Amino acid sequence: MKSEARAVVIGGGVVGASVAYHLTKAGWKDVVLIERGELTCGSTWHAAGGMHTINGDPNVAKLQQYTINLYRELEKISGQSCGMHVTGGIMLAGTRERLDWLKMTKARGRYLGMELEIISVDEAARLFPLMNKEHFVGALLDPIEGHVDPYGVTQAYAKAAQLGGAQIVRHNRVVDLKARADGSWDVITEGGNVHAEHVVNAGGLWAREVGRMVGLELPILAMEHQYLITEDLPALKGQPEQLHCIDFEGEIYTRQERGGMLLGTYERAGVPWSPATTPWDFTQSLLPNDLERIAPSLEVGFEHFPALGQVGIRKVVNGPFTFAPDGNPLVGPVGGLRNFWVACGVMAGFSQGGGVGLALSQWMVEGDPGADVWAMDVARYGDWATLAYTNAKVRENYSRRFRIRFPNEELPAARPLRSTPIYECLKAQHAVFGDYCGLEHPLWFAPSAAEANETVTFHRSNAHAQVAAECQAVREAVGLLEISNYGKFEVTGAGAEQWLSYVMANRVPAVGRIALTPMLNERGKLIGDFTLCRLAPQRVFLICTYAAESYYRRWFERHAPPAGVTVRPCAMQYVGLSVAGPRSRALLQSLTRTDLSSTAFPFLSFRQIDVGMIPALVGRISFTGDLGYEIWVSSDYQRALYDLLTGAGAEQGLRLFGGRALNTMRIEKGFGTWAREYRPIYGPYEAGLGRFVDLNKGEFVGRAAALAERDSGGALRLTTFTVDAGDADASGDEPIWHEGKVVGWVTSGAYGHSVRQSLALGYIPAAVAAADSGFEIEILGERRRAQRHSAAVFDPQGSRMRA
Ligand SMILES: Cc1cc2nc3c(=O)[nH]c(=O)nc-3n(C[C@H](O)[C@H](O)[C@H](O)COP(=O)(O)OP(=O)(O)OC[C@H]3O[C@@H](n4cnc5c(N)ncnc54)[C@H](O)[C@@H]3O)c2cc1C
Repeated sequence: MKSEARAVVIGGGVVGASVAYHLTKAGWKDVVLIERGELTCGSTWHAAGGMHTINGDPNVAKLQQYTINLYRELEKISGQSCGMHVTGGIMLAGTRERLDWLKMTKARGRYLGMELEIISVDEAARLFPLMNKEHFVGALLDPIEGHVDPYGVTQAYAKAAQLGGAQIVRHNRVVDLKARADGSWDVITEGGNVHAEHVVNAGGLWAREVGRMVGLELPILAMEHQYLITEDLPALKGQPEQLHCIDFEGEIYTRQERGGMLLGTYERAGVPWSPATTPWDFTQSLLPNDLERIAPSLEVGFEHFPALGQVGIRKVVNGPFTFAPDGNPLVGPVGGLRNFWVACGVMAGFSQGGGVGLALSQWMVEGDPGADVWAMDVARYGDWATLAYTNAKVRENYSRRFRIRFPNEELPAARPLRSTPIYECLKAQHAVFGDYCGLEHPLWFAPSAAEANETVTFHRSNAHAQVAAECQAVREAVGLLEISNYGKFEVTGAGAEQWLSYVMANRVPAVGRIALTPMLNERGKLIGDFTLCRLAPQRVFLICTYAAESYYRRWFERHAPPAGVTVRPCAMQYVGLSVAGPRSRALLQSLTRTDLSSTAFPFLSFRQIDVGMIPALVGRISFTGDLGYEIWVSSDYQRALYDLLTGAGAEQGLRLFGGRALNTMRIEKGFGTWAREYRPIYGPYEAGLGRFVDLNKGEFVGRAAALAERDSGGALRLTTFTVDAGDADASGDEPIWHEGKVVGWVTSGAYGHSVRQSLALGYIPAAVAAADSGFEIEILGERRRAQRHSAAVFDPQGSRMRA
């Protein structure tokens, strides 16, 4: 084994092998992959090898497409067969709702270039004769599903990596990792040490243990997973290979394995394996079978596919593999550690392994993953994702693997975990809560406790009328919203302004003022949107997306502030309430001696103000697009502030409102939000944020690329549409058609109660952005006429918020 390397990859499962290959492909030849046993000896060797392109996040779906398309190339480079069987696959719907979901999936696949097709039950039965038609109402056909040989794929990656210059070391365990002052690592192994500039944790089942070597507790958990292989089926003799099939009602998947069928299940009563530590002596091992546990799914399976129940079982496999709380991988550099990377929690190594290797290698070599990997970025989790939280969420996710997640559905596991001081007060007002980063926040308010439950649906739910009333209160009187679920940072010190001016695209505002600003990466793409509130010459308060706090912290480490400047995350130290609506000024003025008139405290002011007896930071800004104020207090004052505002608000017609109403009002205003309209695949001019980019203030991260985008105009345009919807609004990721062709995609959608129209925000090519007609948005499989708007549909001049 070498004693020096540019990068050491720990783990020779499919993921580690892919990372090693992609690193060599990206130009780093000096790579060592260290595996404690044989390659594949963790989860990889006993996988069913199924592969598919569909994922809830379109950007992860793209990486899955990349993975599947890579296998042929990999075979050519390595000379090793991947054992590919591209049989095509069908997903069977047993209910109308599932068929709606499949139609939505097909529609979403359109702008990703997937050739998905909705087919009738008869057509499905023709393609997959093992099914009993009685139980189904339709199906989705995907021509590029199938399965691979897990051993072959891993060997192919490893051979290709070796050909690219990597060294593969087997039967050698990494036992410790020691950081050097220059950011490099001593990788301590049973067979000697390697000094490496970079380390990748691709430890799969042992990724937690490898993380602990550097003081990191990764939110991953292994679940037991079982599949069985039947004896040969007479019906398959002489037939072409059967399609890969997912039966959502049975919660099972099945494919042909030689002359028999492989049938696996994500049972509801899933069982975690080794919840706290993974034993090192579990090598190329399996777990005892427990057919009892999956018996309910098998019963359904044998009913839905009768031929499978008529032959014996040749083999049962029970093996563990790891999941993150949301089921997507954990990839990227770890904040707080230099040159330490993870590629773990990959639950679908044969669909995702290639994409994970590609993104991580580009990140390491080029400094940027080259794709939008937010959905699998390790930084999407924060301190709340403890081992026990992960356990509850992973079990929930596993049991729901084949269940529909409705656009308005909130999942119950690990709740309530975090709450603010007014949680009980809001509950008493019949708040229906959502969970965001483990924090409870009100989505809407029901008329009574008995009705404080939302029906999950693709259509408008029982919340619709209540959300309408909440919007009306904001537009006509005043609404009160809890806004604690934002990320916050405080930047202080003599060089605070210069540093912020360098990492943000807009100018730092004057003292007492607010500025909105995008944050860009070097490629000029959006990696954040911030509200900068200048409290003092050397003190700036930043408000941003809470879910991205760790992501931002990592970025701030990369562009570290100079000595004397402190960047302090303080999300939960300041909790907040917002009052919005034409009467919000009168309400707040009745509680403070500070003059809030438009001349004394104009739009975008920010100041420390006493509200009643409560010291607060108050900004004149509102995401609703109406006159409004955001009031930030330390958590010990929030209850008093709530009592004060609701008490005084009664006279002004105050009504509580929640995240749902906020969402529809911000869409009416065309305001974007992180992870929907603002992501690292869009530039600021494309996203309509050009006015918040100050190209004249001097150098800042991404300036050159932003300048180029301004001059070229960018390729895309964020656009507002009104839609002739039925009783289902767009919710995100629906295709946008123009003149019969799919040209773009929806980022957010909702019913706009103030404008009484269904709304969608989405990206379309700049070339069609001026077209006045010919647009359609596909909702639940139906193309609905859509009208493009060149400005916000509500108060396009923005006069209400400046009033
Ligand atoms: C029964 C079953 C069926 C499955 N079916 C499918 C399927 O159909 N399709 C699909 O895509 N996925 C499937 N999977 C999931 C798939 O197996 C995983 O996604 C994949 O194997 C994860 O690969 P990995 O490289 O991350 O982890 P692993 O395979 O666990 O590899 C990690 C490697 O790291 C090594 N390692 C760990 N720590 C150290 C250390 N300190 N020093 C040296 N080496 C170390 C381990 O020995 C191990 O070889 C299935 C899993 C199971 C259990």
